[in-house]
Amino acid sequence: MIRFNKPYMFGQELEYVNEAVIDGRLAGNGRFTKACHEFFQTRYGFKKVLMTTSCTDALEMSAILLRIQPGDEVIIPSYTFVSTANAFALRGAKIVFADSSKDHPNVSIDSIKECISDRTKAIVVVHYGGVACEMDQLLELCNEHEISLVEDAAQAIEASYKGRPLGSFGDCATFSFHETKNVVSGEGGLLVINNEELLKRAEIIWEKGTNRTAFFRGEVDKYSWVDLGSSFLPSELISAYLYGQLENVETIQTGRVRIWETYYSALQDLAISGMFTLPKIPSYATNNAHVFYIVCRNVEERNELLSHLKDKGIGAVFHYLSLHKSEFFKEKHDERELINADRFSDCLVRLPLHLHLTDADVAYIVDCIKDFYTKQ
Ligand SMILES: *Cc1c(COP(=O)(O)O)cnc(C)c1O
Repeated sequence: MIRFNKPYMFGQELEYVNEAVIDGRLAGNGRFTKACHEFFQTRYGFKKVLMTTSCTDALEMSAILLRIQPGDEVIIPSYTFVSTANAFALRGAKIVFADSSKDHPNVSIDSIKECISDRTKAIVVVHYGGVACEMDQLLELCNEHEISLVEDAAQAIEASYKGRPLGSFGDCATFSFHETKNVVSGEGGLLVINNEELLKRAEIIWEKGTNRTAFFRGEVDKYSWVDLGSSFLPSELISAYLYGQLENVETIQTGRVRIWETYYSALQDLAISGMFTLPKIPSYATNNAHVFYIVCRNVEERNELLSHLKDKGIGAVFHYLSLHKSEFFKEKHDERELINADRFSDCLVRLPLHLHLTDADVAYIVDCIKDFYTKQ
């Protein structure tokens, strides 16, 4: 069986975990957490970052940070992971789902415009597959209507828009180090805070609503409960593991991009003959090779392809189911049809993409896909 995903380990991960154990400091905000913070601030120029136990946690922190409350509306793409929406629903916000673009799973700016009302407090965008949304247009829209912007950059490490790193545009942004992402620590995440006004509170929310971080810096002589918060900071074990991955980020990216490009060129003929469409990378975006996907012509053919690949021992998978049609939300959704989100739900197939894949594996996967379409 060729697995859809299998985390790749370099060796430093375990050395650093071992060091953390020997140091005898396993709780959060120690030496490895600081090393990770330093990495993100230096490499991507982020002003302030906080490691979290997941991207879900970072999204929940964002919702608290932006003071989202009942009565507020938050615009979110329907084609995303549940956490993007859940984090804001947990604060009592009304979620308003926007459609994807016609030619990309990323959110359509026109669809967002239709969702804006007097009550819109925030827009959350997802850079699907690490491919940037149209940030200039989004920033203009948010400025014009005085709406906060959150980037769910869970999949977007090492990716940029017009040369500027993703995660640096929103009031805040969130990354994931879940084992399915490019850089992993099993579970893990990061909150980036770009809006200066949010900086101080972010640290407090992170440390269970206390000013403990300021206390450790010697800025106050005791720490106490000063705001809302929760336990968002990860153990040193997580940060130690992650740091071992971060040191290898360029090797990870080179390996992933190579596989991505092999798929892309090998499948181009079938795409040109109209069997499916290949991923589109707009000229303003880079490709961090987080996912390689094809979009089939219809749901029946997509499902047949998935079962064909499964029979051949290949772990290809579909992706998100539109959230506006989910069991939890469908009664709450207004009447609007979100046809592009539905189409990506129905027709998208992701192929295995990880550093354990050999050239022979990739060639075999491509052959099996060609096989399927020549029999059509
Ligand atoms: C993976 C992912 C998440 C969730 O990340 P966790 O770290 O597992 O909480 C959220 N949003 C998007 C778009 C994702 O891809």
